[in-house]
Amino acid sequence: MKRRTFISALCGGVALGFGTKGASATTPESTEKGNASETLNWRRFEFADKKMGVPTRIVMHAPNSETANAAANAVWKRFDELNAALSDYDSESEIVRVCRESGESGAPVAISGDLRRTLEESRRFCVLTGGAFDATVGPVVKLWRRSRYFNERPPEKILEAAKKTVGLDGWKLTETGVETAPGVRFDVGGIAKGFALDEALETLRTFGIESALVDAGGDLRLGAAPPGKDGWTIGVAGLVKDGEPAFYRTLANVGVASSGDANRFLELDGVRYSHIIDPRTGEPLTRRCVATVVAADATAADALASAVCVLGLDETPKLLERLKNIDAEEAGAPGRFESLETILYRVKNDAEPPFTAEKIDVFATPGFADVWPTR
Ligand code: AMP
Ligand code: MG
Repeated sequence: MKRRTFISALCGGVALGFGTKGASATTPESTEKGNASETLNWRRFEFADKKMGVPTRIVMHAPNSETANAAANAVWKRFDELNAALSDYDSESEIVRVCRESGESGAPVAISGDLRRTLEESRRFCVLTGGAFDATVGPVVKLWRRSRYFNERPPEKILEAAKKTVGLDGWKLTETGVETAPGVRFDVGGIAKGFALDEALETLRTFGIESALVDAGGDLRLGAAPPGKDGWTIGVAGLVKDGEPAFYRTLANVGVASSGDANRFLELDGVRYSHIIDPRTGEPLTRRCVATVVAADATAADALASAVCVLGLDETPKLLERLKNIDAEEAGAPGRFESLETILYRVKNDAEPPFTAEKIDVFATPGFADVWPTR
């Protein structure tokens, strides 16, 4: 039996406000494909660093170390650029500054191409998920972050005021910039890591590198399979904090993201409050759950993993049905949701670990359903 090297499930949560991590990468151990290609002789290179507040890692197959180093450095630079634009932890980041300036002046503020694309995608996924994903949860997220620190519910009046700033009506993109109502604060922590991963793969492609895996805190973008293999074998998150993956899948050319409250939550009077907020109520989720989504790109997987946690077992199937039937313009790209796969698992009532199959409710689409519960 081949040895499986596990890149541990990573716990996110600093610069971009990223949440609990799930999917993680293992060394490829899929079957040999045997189709000859010049890239079969390319070597595997790995790089790791902390970027955007989370551990990040690049695995790639490249012709030589010069190309690999140059490509990795370009990815790190790209991550730094995106962090400077999109972090809500940095009061001088572009995203924080534009809300402040537009809120005060009541006028649109010019924005970079990166911020525009991130906000366009944020709006798209807010519409597509019926508001389950909403990047204007910033003020509510901040209050609950403070609550985790002080171990108390946010003061009701302040929370009510923050809830009023959430929603699509409080902001719009204009030709040159963005206009936000007073009090609106973006938090793209639920989508920006996916966006950064997609950008990383594009960056690698400019160096001729197609076979790559980029990992940001456990969310992944997979390029073409390693030479001679069927795909990258990845571990899918379980419900236990920093635990072993629940199971493995072998995938290529997709984004994979996980959301859930295995690692970041507040417990008050026996109620477990997640770092994921239901934007429709302004309240954190209180059921222990983890969702992993596979989509054509990591931006979609990231946003949808957060949304699926909010929508839960009842509403998620309806969302997936809806996504299957939308056109390319609404989706943002042709075929974006064709290969969509989802697994959501949630602890039944007050079940305690170990979370065996009987203690959890599962919703899984084919793909995940095929391997569940062989963990
Ligand atoms: P993720 O780990 O991708 O689910 O992202 C979680 C982060 O996204 C949180 O730490 C918040 O900063 C933000 N967030 C929480 N709830 C939502 C939501 N319903 N929609 C969009 N972003 C959210
Ligand atoms: Mg997300």
